[in-house]
Parts: sequence; C-alpha cells; structure tokens
Amino acid sequence: MELKKKTTKLQSWISTGRGPILISGPCSAETEEQTLETSKRLAATGKVDYIRAGIWKPRTRPGSFEGVGEKGLPWLQKVKEETGLPVTIEVANAAHVELSLKHGIDMLWIGARTAVNPFAVQEIAEALRGVDIPVLIKNPINADLALWIGSTERLIQSGLKRVGAIHRGFSNLGETHYRNRPQWQLAIAYRNEMPELPLICDPSHICGRRELLQHVSQKAMDLDFDGLMLESHIDPDNAWSDAAQQVTPEALKDLINSIVVREPQFDDETSHDELDMLREKINHIDDELLNLLNNRMKVARNIGQFKKSNNITILQKSRWNMILEKGKEYGHAHGLSEAFIQAYLQSVHDESITQQERVMND
Ligand code: PEP
Ligand code: MN
Repeated sequence: MELKKKTTKLQSWISTGRGPILISGPCSAETEEQTLETSKRLAATGKVDYIRAGIWKPRTRPGSFEGVGEKGLPWLQKVKEETGLPVTIEVANAAHVELSLKHGIDMLWIGARTAVNPFAVQEIAEALRGVDIPVLIKNPINADLALWIGSTERLIQSGLKRVGAIHRGFSNLGETHYRNRPQWQLAIAYRNEMPELPLICDPSHICGRRELLQHVSQKAMDLDFDGLMLESHIDPDNAWSDAAQQVTPEALKDLINSIVVREPQFDDETSHDELDMLREKINHIDDELLNLLNNRMKVARNIGQFKKSNNITILQKSRWNMILEKGKEYGHAHGLSEAFIQAYLQSVHDESITQQERVMND
C-alpha cells in the first residue's frame, strides 16, 4: 500500500491525507510484554496509524480467554508513550467506556456482538454524551443492514462527531470459505446510506485464517474502503484468541506492501475518454437487455393467455428446471458464476409469473 494521495475523495475525520488508514494490533492484549512488543514492531513498519488490542473479549462460548480486563489499560498507555501511536480498544458497556476515557484511549470501537443489541449500543452512546472521541461501529454478526445503521444512528444522536463503521463480515450456519461471509453488497449498501462516514474493512474476522487476508484486503481497497483493521501478534500461532488469523508485524508489512491502492477517479484526460467510451457501450447493452426483457415478458403474457384458455397451472416445474440447467451450462462455459445465473433467471422467472398471473386472473 504505497499510498498515493486520494485528492478526489472527501477528506473524512479519520483520513491522514496519506491514503487508506491502517489499524493493527493483537486480537487480545495478553501480557504487557506481548502488547508492547507487538506494538513497537508494528510502529517500526511505518505503516500503522492506530494500535488496536482487545481488553475485554466477547467470546461466543464461555471457558475461553475473555481478556485481561482493566489491568491491560496501563499497558496501552505505555504503548502510546513508547510508539507515539494512538490506541483503540473495544467497549461493550458504559463501565468499559468510563475506564477507557480514564486511561486516555484515543478511539473506541463497538464489537459485532454488541452492535446487535440496541440497549447496549444506547448505553454506550449515553455514556459518551458530551465526549469528543472517535467511535467505530462494527456490523452486527447477523446480516441486518437496518440494525447496523440503527446502531450508527444511536451514536450520532448522542452528539458524537467522529463516527465510523467497520465491516467484519456476517456469521453463517455451517462451514464456509470464510469465518464470516463478507456479503460485500451489505457494506456497499451501508456506505450508500451513510456516505459521510468512513468505512473500514476488518479482513481478519472475515477470513478467520491468514492465507485469505491479502485477497480480502485487496478487495476492500478495490471497493474504495477508507482503511483496514488487521490483527497482528508477535507469535500468532500461540495467540490466546484468534490464532489462525493473526500475522506477525513483519508479515503484515509485506501484506500491506502487496496491496495496490487505486484512485477512485483519475485526472488523466485520455483514460477518461476511454472509460467514457466503455461506459457508453455498457449503457447500450443495458438498453438492449431491457428491450429484450420487455419482449420476453410480452411472450410470457401470450403464454399466460394460452394457459388460461387451456386451464393449466402457471408454474411448470420441469420447464423451469430446464431453463435453469441450460443457464448454468451457459454460465460454466462463459465464466459466469452459478449464483449470478441462478439469481438472474430466478428474478426473470418471478416477473414472468407475476405477468402471467395478471393475464390469467384478469
Ligand atoms: C475483535 O476485533 O477482536 C473482535 C472480537 O471482533 P468482532 O467483534 O468483529 O467479532
Ligand atoms: Mn479477534
């Protein structure tokens, strides 16, 4: 991430003016030595803007390490003194907020398990009334956009001026490639609703294993996120929480160096013309597609008339299966994903049924 200046982007409160920001540090502060050593090595990379560490750890099941608690806060004060970097931790209730403020924590974040609970978020928001501190809100663990936005609104309504969001993916039933499915479209929808707020991606909790971090971090940059939160540990394999997804500070530096940060727009006239031409082509194709779809619906309505005269049901399952199979075959042959083919055909088919229903029950 050799950061080119993003001159075209609105400068948000989190921006350093040097491109996407990087928040890094261990999943959990475990010991004073581990916290300090990790932070110093992260500071030495020259890439990190904030040091993160979990002090109170909301674990899904009891019996695992739940954080060192209050005694870890002076360790972070030391991190600040010795690295000169601001520090950020997760808070889950008013007591955490009070202790964080007392110990000079620079930024707070609300975790995914807290963001689901309006009572908890409201309690935090009330505890922060009249305080000027930046707060980031993670997406709730379930894929509920309104809940994420609602939690954000609670923070804004309490008078906080520096609010931002963290996309950390959504939990899912059963095995998947990711620990938490990214569902990028939800992060994009969030940004459309909250365009003024910085949006950070947390690839560590999306991926759950370090091999995937590069790919997800690059994707976040390609989607023009404002920064990344990545967990780092001096001895990742022996971390007390989230071992598989952490990387050493040095590996983090390599990862960041491998990421390409692209500009959201460009100044260059020639590339502009080229892009305009390609977009014009897309506009043409979209018009054609809509015309074709309209023609398809006309035929569907004719079929509706036929079904009505012959008194047969609208849904012909074998016919639908055939359309789907044919579509998937086409998709395979042309590199279009099965999910896309399925969603596209399903949507077209649903509309055809609606149109036929209208004709038949007229
Ligand atoms: C964390 O950041 O370590 C954490 C617990 O994340 P999340 O709330 O996204 O699960
Ligand atoms: Mn973690």
